Amino acid sequence: MYCKNCGTQLDDRAVICPHCGVPTDNYYTPGHKVEGTSIRHENTEDMPNAGLSVLSFFFPIVGLILFLVWQNSMPKRAKSCARGAILGVVVDVIIVAMTYMTLFMVTVLINAGLIIV
Ligand SMILES: [Zn+2]
Repeated sequence: MYCKNCGTQLDDRAVICPHCGVPTDNYYTPGHKVEGTSIRHENTEDMPNAGLSVLSFFFPIVGLILFLVWQNSMPKRAKSCARGAILGVVVDVIIVAMTYMTLFMVTVLINAGLIIV
């Protein structure tokens, strides 16, 4: 293709004419700078919130509720809550599993006579 401004022959993928610096048609096609600035009206409220993630981590049920409430209006924030909640549940499960494992092991050892109570 050729530059619309100065007529210099350009690479078809060129975004800006190296000769005169004028943006080419590629500059305005999706995938370049235009995307993200004008296409979407970002909801400024919709930001991952660290405090809410931590809250969701300690109270997964709260994270689940927040996720359900926000999943349509604020998907990013909802996702950060869901992530915190999932992490919280996983950690809880691990802690509970380890507690039971320890109790189980102690019981086995007591029964085997290896620990004298
Ligand atoms: Zn040019």
